[in-house]
Amino acid sequence: MPLTPSETTRLLGELGHYPKKKLGQNFLIDGNIVEKSIDMADLPAGMPVVEIGPGLGTLTRKLLEGGHEVHAVEIDKTLFGNLESSLESYTENKRLTLTHGDAVKLPTASLPKEQGDYAVVANLPYAISSAWLESLLATERLPVRMVLMLQREAVDRMWAKCGTKSYSALSIFLHAAFRHHKSHLVSRRCFHPVPSVDSVLARMDILPNPFLFSAPDRALIRRIFTQRRKQIGSIARQEDDATRSGILDWLERKELAQTLRPEQIEPEAWLGLAMRGSG
Ligand code: SAM
Repeated sequence: MPLTPSETTRLLGELGHYPKKKLGQNFLIDGNIVEKSIDMADLPAGMPVVEIGPGLGTLTRKLLEGGHEVHAVEIDKTLFGNLESSLESYTENKRLTLTHGDAVKLPTASLPKEQGDYAVVANLPYAISSAWLESLLATERLPVRMVLMLQREAVDRMWAKCGTKSYSALSIFLHAAFRHHKSHLVSRRCFHPVPSVDSVLARMDILPNPFLFSAPDRALIRRIFTQRRKQIGSIARQEDDATRSGILDWLERKELAQTLRPEQIEPEAWLGLAMRGSG
């Protein structure tokens, strides 16, 4: 069970730690939501799990008790020190590997390179949710499943439909590799301290044939989306010769008008831009 609000306050007091807003330190204090995260993940027995920002170790402990090997990365020095001592029995027998660092730089924590299937279960620090996802996509070894606690607006942005204001380069990258399986709205009262935004627990499953955009293609699509209200034909004309003809060929092949705006082009169509030159 997670710590109650008063136990959380007491532990933070013992550690001499004040929750840091800029690190998104809103700790889970509701047992039902911890259970819900585990149930939603519905992980095969023994599947290794990456956790981002274990904090006071609430989810971590539950995952370990469920028989999973956990690779967790925490940036806060005090919280990291507390995790090391409070979960020592698990680190000793190598069921838990704790890394002190930035999850944006270490998106899969200490997960071994040769690791096969793995999942991510995390109550993500909101400030890094998009940056962490982008760097996870760049690792080119994707989890088979993710259950992420996210800011409600972040989920809306990630799974935004083409033509909406929230539709972005990240929505395109996610649509190419994952399916949004389901979401569960979480009250702000489930956290200590109470955050100023609503949260959503979202499960995403890898597609049978996930597509990963290369780094140059991700950079190009991001660049195109900085001018989302301009016509794609005129955006193309600002690029160098090779990129411009790549974009114009793609539009012709897909029978997409040069007058379309980036935000009007469906996620699937962008795969053709990435695969330009391959037929
Ligand atoms: N997992 C805990 C829970 O559910 O109660 C804590 C979740 S809290 C929303 C986010 C955690 O992420 C905090 O412990 C915070 O220190 C940590 N964190 C923030 N930025 C981070 C980063 N860039 N890399 C790793 N951890 C980070």
